[in-house]
Amino acid sequence: TLDADWAERWIRRTADAVADRRDELTALDREIGDGDHGENLVRGFRAVVAKLDARRSEADGSVGSPRLVGDVLKLTATTLMSTVGGASGPLYGTAFLRAAKVTGHEAIDTRTIVAMLESALDGITARGKAEPGEKTMVDAWTPAVEAAERAAGEGDEADALRAAAAAADAGATATIPLVATKGRASYLGERSAGHEDPGARSTALLLAAAVSALD
Ligand code: ADP
Ligand code: MG
Ligand code: MG
Repeated sequence: TLDADWAERWIRRTADAVADRRDELTALDREIGDGDHGENLVRGFRAVVAKLDARRSEADGSVGSPRLVGDVLKLTATTLMSTVGGASGPLYGTAFLRAAKVTGHEAIDTRTIVAMLESALDGITARGKAEPGEKTMVDAWTPAVEAAERAAGEGDEADALRAAAAAADAGATATIPLVATKGRASYLGERSAGHEDPGARSTALLLAAAVSALD
């Protein structure tokens, strides 16, 4: 079931994934940005894990640990906002903040998971004003949300998450030929084509971690 323990595993596995793939994210950002995306996310998610650890040890994992998915996501949001400089900090921060707002209750069903993903994308769009096709993380989130909505019609929350992660992965790959018109990569104009967007790739890693945290 998708409870606070799942959310905590999700965030911890995201921290592991961005650390494992830091060099790849950095290399992508070096091609079309300023080469700090891997570093930014490793620092941010490491800080979140430290806060989760502190909460666990404070009260032997009972009273001090977040009990709702929304609690974990809110802690993630505020920590990313305060520790990640750069565009991705406020973007992911807003995504997690909006996601927290729809997961602050006990029952996390398929509908709630879809709402969580939709809200995350809404937050990113509200903050960054990017549309699909501008070569940003929106190009991974948009197909992820659409795939989750479709999968939720026939499946459960795990099916929705798996569909979202697969679509985000394909969406990230599909940013390669795009010309960036938002963010730092847009300074390169046509020369941004031919490289995958680092934020779209990190989004795919984030959603893959959500699936991995199912078990
Ligand atoms: P910075 O560009 O400030 O160094 P990062 O390297 O951490 O920040 O993040 C860059 C990523 O942020 C890009 O690859 C892109 O996916 C995402 N991004 C940048 N601007 C926007 C935007 N306006 N909307 C959505 N995503 C954006
Ligand atoms: Mg950067
Ligand atoms: Mg930067």
